[in-house]
Amino acid sequence: MAAPSAIAELMRDLGEALNTNPDLLFLGGGNPALIPEAGDIFSRHLQALLNDKALVQRWLGVYQSPQGSESLLPLLSQYLQDQGWPVSAKNLVVVNGGQSAFNRLFNLLGGPSVKGTQRIHLPMLPEYVGYRGQMIGGDAFAVSRPIIALESEHRFRYKLDRSALVLDEHSGALCLSRPTNPSANVVDLEDVRWLEGEAKRWGIPMLVDCAYGAPFPNIMAPSQAYRWRPGSVAVLSASKLGLPGLRTAVVVADEELASLLAHVGAVENLASGNTGPLLLESLIASGDIHRLTQLIPEYYQPKRKLMLALLDEHLQDVPYRIHGADGAFFVWLWLPNLPVSAKVLYQRLKARNVLVMAGNDFFFGEEASWQHARECLRLNICQSDQAMAEAVAIIASEIKALYSKA
Ligand code: PLP
Repeated sequence: MAAPSAIAELMRDLGEALNTNPDLLFLGGGNPALIPEAGDIFSRHLQALLNDKALVQRWLGVYQSPQGSESLLPLLSQYLQDQGWPVSAKNLVVVNGGQSAFNRLFNLLGGPSVKGTQRIHLPMLPEYVGYRGQMIGGDAFAVSRPIIALESEHRFRYKLDRSALVLDEHSGALCLSRPTNPSANVVDLEDVRWLEGEAKRWGIPMLVDCAYGAPFPNIMAPSQAYRWRPGSVAVLSASKLGLPGLRTAVVVADEELASLLAHVGAVENLASGNTGPLLLESLIASGDIHRLTQLIPEYYQPKRKLMLALLDEHLQDVPYRIHGADGAFFVWLWLPNLPVSAKVLYQRLKARNVLVMAGNDFFFGEEASWQHARECLRLNICQSDQAMAEAVAIIASEIKALYSKA
């Protein structure tokens, strides 16, 4: 955990851009947009909670139970049942953020064990950089490259390569973010079900990271919504609803694993915070969660379109390709045969006040042997239209300069 880490660097950049140097054009980390209508809903609910004096005392003065708030869990399980998830309150655990959930899951299911080192399989690179560096005793990931499907001159898509997944007795779990950070892919439901089937064959869980997915924040096509099934683990987070400051997430798992996660939570943290669960409860009880899960995807849709249009306009003379922008709030840009590593491009852009994410670290060490892993950038679409336009103009000028020197 003390080793150099891409996620730590990312969060340093994010902190600098959003808290100390707001003039940076920030297309970097995964902070959600500040959406005015969502902000109004959050303020109204928090104000109502604050007006209830007895509640404020419990809110600030009582530790939550290890599994999470007794009033939230039944409400949340009803909400998930309404979305077709076969859950009860016993399947749910409240956690201080998805990041913390993955830390517990990876260390329980992967790493050193009596059977030897158990691996966490990432069936489809590139994958969320924040999974790296979490495992005590050193990361034990087994990663698979995807098929790269070229869809048109400037568009492409990663597809699951089923033949690349090899599970064995040293497999501890599979893990997939869907929508995927960084590529904005929403992996075919059929492939997710296939992965779940493979996991089941080996008696291990499939972890589905729903940080951007359904039922909330729902930044994807609803027809592609994943529904949890027994044997799998879904991780939901309040962060991309616009609430990363609350550090609240919920893990959905079989009862035995859920109670183990609650146990580890008590050891690690005593309890999770109360503010996020209280606000989530209020949003669900009032039905405002439904309004949020409509307005949030609606907000990102034109942003995504604008980013694609800006890139298509400014990159005309270079051999760029953009991944199908299905979900989350990123656009993933591939620059085939880029003459330098994307990390060098990242540094050059930083020197010009533009922050992006170099793709390299999303490839879990494959960058050494796979040129594609050194050719990608992730662009966040959460900033103002003007900031996005200014940033893309600078990004395009740097990219063109690099190709023209080659
Ligand atoms: N999973 C994915 C794919 C993410 O992008 C993030 C945050 O960016 C997380 C998990 C963790 O989010 P949080 O800890 O805020 O719930």
